[in-house]
Amino acid sequence: MKNELEKEMTEVGHAFRTGERAPVSGIYEYVGHITLPGCNPNSNDRKVTLTAGEFFPPHRGCGKGVIWRLFKISTN
Ligand SMILES: [Zn+2]
Repeated sequence: MKNELEKEMTEVGHAFRTGERAPVSGIYEYVGHITLPGCNPNSNDRKVTLTAGEFFPPHRGCGKGVIWRLFKISTN
């Protein structure tokens, strides 16, 4: 029941941090580094596809924690 509730409350635009778990499967987009100043990710590093329950990754380029925003919820 708890997971269902979290799923319903998760909407496009919600932000998450490296190390948290993805509440829903979908595409997440890069927002910024948690510790500033951060580097500037290239376009390949600005989107990540995750399955519900997976951890948000750090920025691949520098390995530091970043903020991700739910961009598109996967329908399957
Ligand atoms: Zn970086």
